[in-house]
Amino acid sequence: MSNFYYQDGTLMVEGLSARDVAQAHGTPAYVYSAQALREGLGTIQKAFAAIDPLVCFSVKSCPNLSVLKLLVDHGAGLDVVSGGELRRALQAGAPPEKIVFAGVGKSREELTLAIQQGVLMFNVESTAELERINEISGGLGRKVQLALRVNPDVADETTHAKTSTGGRETKFGIPLHHAEKIIADGGFEHVDICGLHVHLGSPLSEASPYLLAIEALEQMEQRLAAAGREIRYINVGGGYPVSYASPGQSFRPVLEIGQAIAERLQGFRARGKKFVVEPGRSVVANAGLLLCQVEYMKQGWDHKIAIVNAGMNTLIRPTLYGAFHLMWPAQHDGFTGDWEAVARLPAQGLEKVDVVGPICETGDYLALGRSLPAMKSGDLLAVFSCGAYGMSMASNYNSHGRPAEVLVDGSEMRLIRRREVYEDLVAFEVDLLK
Ligand SMILES: *Cc1c(COP(=O)(O)O)cnc(C)c1O
Repeated sequence: MSNFYYQDGTLMVEGLSARDVAQAHGTPAYVYSAQALREGLGTIQKAFAAIDPLVCFSVKSCPNLSVLKLLVDHGAGLDVVSGGELRRALQAGAPPEKIVFAGVGKSREELTLAIQQGVLMFNVESTAELERINEISGGLGRKVQLALRVNPDVADETTHAKTSTGGRETKFGIPLHHAEKIIADGGFEHVDICGLHVHLGSPLSEASPYLLAIEALEQMEQRLAAAGREIRYINVGGGYPVSYASPGQSFRPVLEIGQAIAERLQGFRARGKKFVVEPGRSVVANAGLLLCQVEYMKQGWDHKIAIVNAGMNTLIRPTLYGAFHLMWPAQHDGFTGDWEAVARLPAQGLEKVDVVGPICETGDYLALGRSLPAMKSGDLLAVFSCGAYGMSMASNYNSHGRPAEVLVDGSEMRLIRRREVYEDLVAFEVDLLK
């Protein structure tokens, strides 16, 4: 966690203290480290160096325009799943030929916009979608590139049921044998089916599901080649893991998995294929934290409760996925940021608390039964590894404005999304009051 560290017991984000960020922009706030974002992208590029892929950052994990621009400026392409994300990608300066467009429900408007803008390719999820793209593409006098998203029926036991996407029971992709038949039969005049795509889930903690899926793709690609149907692109999706419990070691898992996948893709490489990867979480999760403040400490029947000003409306992962996020007060005298030591600490000096938000739901918590140093009203609490699927899944539930987003680069900070105010909450409502 070199960009988030404790100095004399004070949490620092690069060259600034978390306290300074909170004083400048209030809480709750998502705070990103520019250096960590660059390192996150660099790690993916390094992990997959052996196959030199186009790295398309998954916009849905962290769609802030400034974050996208920073990544695009460092060579990233972008993976989008809606017209809104496509427009963000273009506004952030991504060249269309480095944008891939996925998602099971692309509308006519979204497809038309993407074809007109000239995206690299679509990842197609059904025959009905293929027919629709063929029709729109023909109408516009184009021939668009696309990859079929194959459902390889590779179930992954290591991820949460809500984030596993490679199994036969999910809504994703086209069953393997069916995809093969579509390509073998041909017959769609206005599209060029040039790629095979898989995305198995998020996060996957082992390489084996990828390796199984790649093996299935390779057999299929070779059968198709023998029948005279050439595939040029292999896209292995995203879902590469990060360490949530120990942010300091965040890059080890993705390096190991990436290298194993790249190794398994060497056969494709030898036959001249090009590659796309679509990492989201592994680039940004450990580049952001959520800074919040304790409103009240309270004693329940038999447990202590810390009520903070961020809840499931701010960070839904704990209650939606049972996700673990490391958290710690931003000021803890004597603390050096040694998380391994924290894990070994005897519970003395710490107290078990439920860390909950202001929302009127029992499921509104950031952590249950967590051992933390004693806190009091007004203390700042940092929730780590929140860069991915944090702000992007935040809501206005209970009519709270969504938090600010701040980007720290060295000893400078920039507000990259202002905190929402009441006027934002009601801006779209039709006025029947007059
Ligand atoms: C969500 C998604 C990704 C990114 O997943 P991460 O776990 O954030 O890396 C990549 N590809 C597709 C098609 C996705 O839906």
